[in-house]
Amino acid sequence: MIIQKSDNLRISTFDPENFSFGNTFVDHMVICEFENGKWGEPKIVPYGPLGFSPAMMGINYGQACFEGMKAYKDKDGDVFLFRPEKNFARINKSASRLAMPEVTEEMFMDGIKTLVDMERAWIPHGEGLSLYIRPLIFATEEILKARISEKYMFAVVATPAKSYYTEPVSVKIAEYYSRSANGGVGFAKAAGNYAAAFHPTRLAMEEGYDQIVWTDDSTHQYLEESGTMNVFVRINDTIYTPPISEKILDGVTRDSFIQLAQSLQMNVQVEPISVDVVMEAQKNGTLREMWGVGTAVVTTVFKSFGFQNEKYDLPELSDEDSYALTIKNKLTSIQSNLCEDPFGWRLKVEKNN
Ligand SMILES: *Cc1c(COP(=O)(O)O)cnc(C)c1O
Repeated sequence: MIIQKSDNLRISTFDPENFSFGNTFVDHMVICEFENGKWGEPKIVPYGPLGFSPAMMGINYGQACFEGMKAYKDKDGDVFLFRPEKNFARINKSASRLAMPEVTEEMFMDGIKTLVDMERAWIPHGEGLSLYIRPLIFATEEILKARISEKYMFAVVATPAKSYYTEPVSVKIAEYYSRSANGGVGFAKAAGNYAAAFHPTRLAMEEGYDQIVWTDDSTHQYLEESGTMNVFVRINDTIYTPPISEKILDGVTRDSFIQLAQSLQMNVQVEPISVDVVMEAQKNGTLREMWGVGTAVVTTVFKSFGFQNEKYDLPELSDEDSYALTIKNKLTSIQSNLCEDPFGWRLKVEKNN
């Protein structure tokens, strides 16, 4: 790996007590270019803009996908990634579906570990604090032909993140719009999936909701995901989440929640959840909790949901009574090295700089 150090470091201006997520970037980034059928040598370069033409294929035809993962710092200053091999496998699943070249494990893992190691001073320590890491692959050939690009860039940027507490949200169960379809790209972290969800989400927000619970595109009868998170429903003392499919993204947080719930002796059923079952449980008072899970905020608890122009409130549970928050606490403790890691999920980032 080629390392070009910045001679204009911004780390001294970073205030871990006061920063905003997503627009404060660490001093360096990883880039690697694909040309003539192969990836070149990955480089660490100063963070900054890249020069591209508006004819670049990635922005015309949407050949672009990404990942979202985090690095956590413990009280001794040790830094850990969480299940990064899952993100590596998934970026290549996304890339293949979008006819893009797969990245090598070495590029992905060494690129991220080297960047995180160099930028450890940017990782805030404390509850809900982490470094959000965004690997991405996009088509860079500058040609207006609607075909598979012959040039790509793999890049990794990172931004300090905080998610102390997220307010419970109100969600609308989708009855018209869809996030994904049979034979489509819903399982991939395709950039275009986000673009396609923005307009329906804005409409739901105009109706007073925070997010959409996506349902299957053919019948709108089965819950799929919530916004850009996987969804869980608790009826009585059983947790349900739909099985992953080509329409449902295989979330790392979802998989971790299922394993943790089982290890906490909770009853978990991975099976399709119909809107009818949710409505029935709502009517007979057995619907206890609904929530979304993903890397960014770990868990978003639902306070109410809308269906067919009616809004229904969910019970307010204490942190101890909430399965969602009990599992979330366990997960964040493992991520931040506050407890044992029986699953072997943490990967320590060694100090080499
Ligand atoms: C990224 C993403 C998730 C969450 O995946 P994690 O690996 O848990 O972060 C869920 N659904 C969609 C559509 C996503 O893009």
